Amino acid sequence: MTFKLPELPYALDALAPVMSRETLEYHYGKHHQRYVDNLNKLVAGTDLEHKSLEDIIKASKSGGTFNNAAQVWNHTFFFHSLKPHGAKISGKAKDAIEKQWGSFDKFKAEFSEAAVGLFGSGWVWLTQLANGTLAIEKTKDAETPLTSGHKPLLTLDVWEHAYYIDYRNDRARFINSWWDIVNWDFVNKQF
Ligand code: MN
Repeated sequence: MTFKLPELPYALDALAPVMSRETLEYHYGKHHQRYVDNLNKLVAGTDLEHKSLEDIIKASKSGGTFNNAAQVWNHTFFFHSLKPHGAKISGKAKDAIEKQWGSFDKFKAEFSEAAVGLFGSGWVWLTQLANGTLAIEKTKDAETPLTSGHKPLLTLDVWEHAYYIDYRNDRARFINSWWDIVNWDFVNKQF
């Protein structure tokens, strides 16, 4: 199998001003593309070559193949969780978050704090555990909840390449803006 860069469900400039066209050109067009290209090179001629992305992530666990496979998966999930102009939270996500955190604002504050406080490169996730409860999780570098069996519902990329063009070092301002382009229909579909 040759992996391909999945198409974006919106135009490169559609998320501006939260994420500029230039950010998408680099983050999607260069970083995401590079992970896809690296993965194809790493699995060529190995017994992973005909496995699915998820199976490669679970089978490799660490190292270059894991890092590139997980980054392909994480970025595809991230880019599909965004939409121009966003929308208010609704449906299952609204009900489950309000049940667990008491209010959406409380959840938003806790998730944002986790994202601001993540040291170095990584991801912040809203996940669903096997018992049905929700969790806010941080993962380092390429790590992904797929390996722990927690179901990803939403993620935020806080690698510097996700925000440095538009926000420079101001990660907190990036996170604050990002809430405006979360696609809650996508989150509701993950439950
Ligand atoms: Mn990224």
